[in-house]
Amino acid sequence: AKENGRNNYQLFQSAMNKKVTERLTLEHDLRKALERNEFVVYYQPQVNAATGEVFGLEALVRWQHPTRGMISPAEFIPLAEESGLIVPIGEWVLKTACQQVKRWQRVFPNLRAAVNLSARQFQSDNLVEIVAQALEEAELQAHCLDLEITESTTMHNVDRAIATMHDLKSLGIQISLDDFGTGYSSLSYLKHFPIHMLKIDRSFVRDITTDEDDAAIVASVIAMAHSLKLNVIAEGVETEEQLAYLMERRCDQMQGYLFSQPLPVEKCDELLHFINKT
Ligand code: C2E
Ligand code: CA
Ligand code: CA
Ligand code: CA
Repeated sequence: AKENGRNNYQLFQSAMNKKVTERLTLEHDLRKALERNEFVVYYQPQVNAATGEVFGLEALVRWQHPTRGMISPAEFIPLAEESGLIVPIGEWVLKTACQQVKRWQRVFPNLRAAVNLSARQFQSDNLVEIVAQALEEAELQAHCLDLEITESTTMHNVDRAIATMHDLKSLGIQISLDDFGTGYSSLSYLKHFPIHMLKIDRSFVRDITTDEDDAAIVASVIAMAHSLKLNVIAEGVETEEQLAYLMERRCDQMQGYLFSQPLPVEKCDELLHFINKT
């Protein structure tokens, strides 16, 4: 039994070492990835349900790793958060998305850009300057940019978060509250947040046609958003049935695989030309 215990321990040790080494290698690679130009921005259409038109594009970063292939943000964003690398990566995504949407605006003038802000970025001292600079360099009008923050980003220090949101708003940009419903922020804060859009989290949308509770939650979030004069967008819309339910509840904006997956620039360009009237 003793022998066995030792073997298990050694197995455990070597598995642990492997994990730690993998993580360190990934972090090392992540440090190099920006200068090596390995990040790619994909764009997911945000759709006006009534007209079917694409009104906005959410920038979603991917990592084209030289040996591991395409790595999803779910895998490297947490690591980038912990190491602080999310700050330069996020800045690059912001600049890239502003410039790309500006290009598309020559054909589709009302198109908006949506960019995710991590907690680290949101808490950094020069955030407002960085956003202002990205807009200026791209010559993108401020009102065409949505910055997406999550409830959990704001929970850390609510008063400071509200102040930061006001600073950002003073640039003329708009703020969306992402993954809405997954955090624990008090609803009473919501009316103090200078935001213009709620994004209903995918986890609630998924079961709206089968789970009465989720259906009720989504219906009340839509109603609440409207009574607070906020726009509301449903994430993760995958089926016609979900779409029908959401439209019946007057959710007017949608995002999800039913319309399109996140796409690389050329594919997104084709889709825009196919869908939107110029
Ligand atoms: P998110 O901001 O909530 O983005 C939505 C995620 O849901 C995206 O995953 C998108 O591909 C996926 N999605 C969209 N529609 C559907 C659908 O109909 N069904 C399903 N099953 N999934 C759908 P993705 O691109 O893997 O990104 C995951 C998360 O990584 C994002 O969640 C966001 O939190 C983070 N992320 C991505 N890009 C950035 C970035 O540039 N900066 C920061 N800070 N975070 C980012
Ligand atoms: Ca988002
Ligand atoms: Ca989201
Ligand atoms: Ca989500």
